[in-house]
Amino acid sequence: MRITAVKVKFLEYPLKSAFYPVWLPGYAQTFHRLNLVILETDEGITGYSAGPAFGTEAAGLEKLLSPFLLGRDPCNVEEIVQILRSATFLGLRLWYIEPALWDILGKVAGLPVYKLLGGYQDRIRAYASTGELREVEQRLEYVEQVQQLGITAVKLRFHSSDWREDLKVARAVRERFPEMELMVDANMGWRVAGLGQAPRWEVATAARVAQELAELGVLWLEEPLDQHDYQGYRLLRQKVTLPLAGGEFNSDLHEFRELVRQECLDILQPDATISGGILMAKKIAVLAEAHHLGFAPHTWTNGLGLAINLQVMGAVPNCQWVEWPYEPPGWTPEARDFLLKEPIQVASDGTIEIPQAPGLGVEIAPEALEEYGRLI
Ligand SMILES: [Mg+2]
Repeated sequence: MRITAVKVKFLEYPLKSAFYPVWLPGYAQTFHRLNLVILETDEGITGYSAGPAFGTEAAGLEKLLSPFLLGRDPCNVEEIVQILRSATFLGLRLWYIEPALWDILGKVAGLPVYKLLGGYQDRIRAYASTGELREVEQRLEYVEQVQQLGITAVKLRFHSSDWREDLKVARAVRERFPEMELMVDANMGWRVAGLGQAPRWEVATAARVAQELAELGVLWLEEPLDQHDYQGYRLLRQKVTLPLAGGEFNSDLHEFRELVRQECLDILQPDATISGGILMAKKIAVLAEAHHLGFAPHTWTNGLGLAINLQVMGAVPNCQWVEWPYEPPGWTPEARDFLLKEPIQVASDGTIEIPQAPGLGVEIAPEALEEYGRLI
């Protein structure tokens, strides 16, 4: 089988209501933008993948990639990963191309990707992942709402200029919902400068917060420090008992090797669309397993990205939670998954089923391409 066409479509979906992500302080997000990758083959099988877009930065990507990918066997994932790695020399992080190869592989085999990767579980317990800072009352209403959906865990964001403000919210949620599992994400791993003011924690601050959260029975503290501050993480982990999670924007094996070797984290969180692809994520899961670490991939990109990471999660024994991004009215399942025929939902028992169709398990909605596709 040979790749016969490489297409990258820019899609821009207007949000029904503005979304204020903590990771872009001071920014009102009014569109969900992404790059949809389409790989066509001489056997008529098409593979899809998608990566986040801020604007039209992927313009010209088809032209750049085509000479490297056309004519290659899409089943030679490792061979193509070498090509994607070489794009990092140009400052391009194109790992989100790789899952399209797995989509093709799964469709050829007639199996969902997680079965090809060593199938372990068909369903995973979901946690509702918040994206904004909210006042106590608003957040309590949110938790009430997700609880009614059957969801048994919520990840809160800590990103106020004074973390004690965030702690008030966490305490209130803990008090009102003693059964709800809680995680906390500080989003200090990768910082977007130039918009609004964002807090920055030192090891001592992170340790203080971790201690408070441990008393609330929080499951993990995510990204309290910069993604490359291996030494800071090492020191922090020696000081605290609360499990530390991170790695969503780290990429390639060497960065995860350092996170493991320097004993930075308890839970590794690669995103298969950002960290190196599906095969890389599986390798990182193995690395985590060998070191008795947890594995809880980041999924906050788009619906196809969520499906891609679900396929990895289904294939590994050390993944207990799937992040289900949900922050209405801005970030709804419909907005998140607008490019899919059906949004990915949580079942009434609080779990998400690994999509079972061959390949990545989900279908692209042709209307989404037509309606929201833009030429770049
Ligand atoms: Mg995170």
